[in-house]
Amino acid sequence: MLIKQVPDIEKVRFDVETGRVDRSSAPAETNPFDLNALETAVRLKEKLGGRVTVISMGPPQAESSLRDALARGADRAILLTDKRFAGADTLATSYTLATAIRKLGSFDLIVCGEKTVDGDTGQVGPEVAEHLGIPHVAYVCEVREVSEDRILVVSDMGDKYLFEVTLPALITVTKDINTPRIPTLRDVLKARRAKVEVWDADSLAGYGETCRFGLQGSMTLVTRITIPSEEGRRGIIFRGEDAVERLIEALRKEGFIP
Ligand SMILES: Cc1cc2nc3c(=O)[nH]c(=O)nc-3n(C[C@H](O)[C@H](O)[C@H](O)COP(=O)(O)OP(=O)(O)OC[C@H]3O[C@@H](n4cnc5c(N)ncnc54)[C@H](O)[C@@H]3O)c2cc1C
Repeated sequence: MLIKQVPDIEKVRFDVETGRVDRSSAPAETNPFDLNALETAVRLKEKLGGRVTVISMGPPQAESSLRDALARGADRAILLTDKRFAGADTLATSYTLATAIRKLGSFDLIVCGEKTVDGDTGQVGPEVAEHLGIPHVAYVCEVREVSEDRILVVSDMGDKYLFEVTLPALITVTKDINTPRIPTLRDVLKARRAKVEVWDADSLAGYGETCRFGLQGSMTLVTRITIPSEEGRRGIIFRGEDAVERLIEALRKEGFIP
């Protein structure tokens, strides 16, 4: 399963000059949706057997999120960290993660959060599946059945849909799927001594094209970051019996309707 360490979104600041997140401006935590993803994977392991491997791409301090994942029931933790991974957009991030998964060998199911609280794109999970050429279902709020070669899930896209896909597959999960467990002190202490493997760009060389990692592999470019000004916003409340007519008139005046 895949987890991302994110900055505390209430406190984080942006470096307007470079167009990047100033990670030193806020403490880091595991993306909350990824705790639901981890809980999903650990529950499946407890029911059906197998092993849960957690992968995160990020700076060296992301190791603390991986240790937390080990305390919560993961069996193996891998940190992808290298200056050559830096500046990655979602395409390069997902490509790097998919390359690491390819290096791991065979697997049945990849579980991701539906999105992160900082980047918030929800693109990485489905992109990883596309890179690996496996089916995926997003916004999964319930795993109904798992057999040797299939998984039956409910996806919440406003309305709920039932999907059956063949394994290996990837799912991204919503917060409604479960309540993540709190690790015991014993598990936390055990995880502190556990090994977190560190993989750099060279170690993935035989499994993907290293030119597709980081900034070099990114198709998007942040040209400018601006904070929208509050004064720019306007709100008008229409009340009374003729509210709808006046709303239509106002929208017409602004050119939103002919
Ligand atoms: C041009 C550009 C440059 C960027 N440069 C940087 C940079 O220099 N440094 C930087 O930190 N960010 C950078 N970013 C942001 C970076 O692209 C995103 O942090 C990353 O791709 C994840 O996207 P997201 O947060 O929207 O994840 P989502 O798609 O919302 O995440 C969905 C799920 O995917 C998994 N996931 C996402 N990211 C990771 C990860 N890193 N490791 C493991 N699992 C993951 C998790 O399960 C998560 O719940 C840049 C973005 C752009 C567009």
